[in-house]
Amino acid sequence: MAKEGFNPFQMAQAQFDKVADLLELDEATRDLLRNPMREYAFTIPVRMDDGTMKVFRGFRVQHNDSRGPCKGGIRFHPQETIDTVRALSMWMTWKCAVVDIPLGGGKGGVICDPHNLSAREQEQICRGWVRQLAKNIGPLSDVPAPDVMTNAQHMLWMLDEYEHIHGNKYPGLITGKPVGMGGSLGRTEATGYGVVYTLREALKQMNIKAADTVASVQGFGNVAQYAIRLYNQLGGKVICVACWDQNDQKSYSFRKLDGVNADSLLSITDRFGGIDKNKAREMGYEILPGEAWLEQDVDILIPAALEHQITEENVNKIAPRVKVIAEGANGPTTPEADKVIAARNIFMIPDFLANAGGVTCSYFEQVQCNMNYYWEKDEVLSKLDTKMTSAFLAVSELARKKKLYMRDAAYVISVGRVAQACKDRGWV
Ligand code: NAD
Repeated sequence: MAKEGFNPFQMAQAQFDKVADLLELDEATRDLLRNPMREYAFTIPVRMDDGTMKVFRGFRVQHNDSRGPCKGGIRFHPQETIDTVRALSMWMTWKCAVVDIPLGGGKGGVICDPHNLSAREQEQICRGWVRQLAKNIGPLSDVPAPDVMTNAQHMLWMLDEYEHIHGNKYPGLITGKPVGMGGSLGRTEATGYGVVYTLREALKQMNIKAADTVASVQGFGNVAQYAIRLYNQLGGKVICVACWDQNDQKSYSFRKLDGVNADSLLSITDRFGGIDKNKAREMGYEILPGEAWLEQDVDILIPAALEHQITEENVNKIAPRVKVIAEGANGPTTPEADKVIAARNIFMIPDFLANAGGVTCSYFEQVQCNMNYYWEKDEVLSKLDTKMTSAFLAVSELARKKKLYMRDAAYVISVGRVAQACKDRGWV
């Protein structure tokens, strides 16, 4: 789902090259890590509800499994591309390494628009995706999960197909399953909460009370909704949320200076995180252009929608008051925009650290599946907080010691760990 002219894989490689120089990696290690280990691209024929056949295109990319089985979500999106999936699989490798969980990086996708597909058609896509990959994924090799426009139901259809093919129960094949069917409590909240655990720590280091801050958020899907809720619980106020309108599928910013109420906004939000802008207007929201969320006079920006949102073209629109950017989305900031943000001394909590709560909880889900014993929600969230906080502290300490931009510090830790694993295995 890359924007025209923007190649997320090139961006992921440019970020990697920078850290490879910092770490003085040898040629073989660079060659190995700047490319995925394995890629699958395939067709998924589906009989549609009207009786016609339609062929969808699916992908799975396994970037690196030196530290454990590949892990990463599956996106359903009409503009999905192999390069987006490559980039995301690479970011998953760094994400698992930065929170130090024994998993590698993978990502998958299908070019399709679930808005226009019945539940039965979506089920057929899920089952077809697994049939094409049944020999290449598994609890000990590659473990998928939900991502943009996929959910627990899609994961259960996929698991069911895999178990039919292999003739046994394999709850560890996939994470993000429904609770009661091998899913973990807390998974729905995990990514958004994780963003706010790291934000809370950043504010502490800056001696700022969350209750004295105001934020603007892009996105109102799974990540953003829970990030807003926990940030509100800490006393922070969100004054602007940007997302799609349900009717025209264009993006708008929804502003309420006395504070966005996540619960009431949720009542006019569809399952894809789209808001009905007419109803939002009736609720007292100002409807502004899609990019306006970035220009608000706030302390904190949380991009939690999609990649390539803070760029060379708009980075200078960020208000002077902004002190922290916590990246809920993957790849929202381009390397050119990073330079401006670093020069302005804005505290950046980079994507693969800030949004690692999802994969960390997925890892907890696997652990629980393996034990066949499931933890209470408080236990899951407290373990998540511990893991996110210690990862954040390790990155911020390195950034402080070596005077590095936070993204670079996170990369140094992650790429260093993965490069070492490859070396120890004798791959480079
Ligand atoms: P989602 O599909 O639930 O929500 C996406 C939100 O972004 C929706 O509100 C949608 O309206 C909005 N959006 C889409 N295009 C937009 C645009 N052009 N302008 C403004 N808003 C737009 O997705 P999600 O699960 O919340 O994921 C959001 C981001 O976080 C993605 O980059 C995803 O890869 C990343 N992420 C998600 C998880 C997870 O556990 N869900 C984990 C790590 C990273």
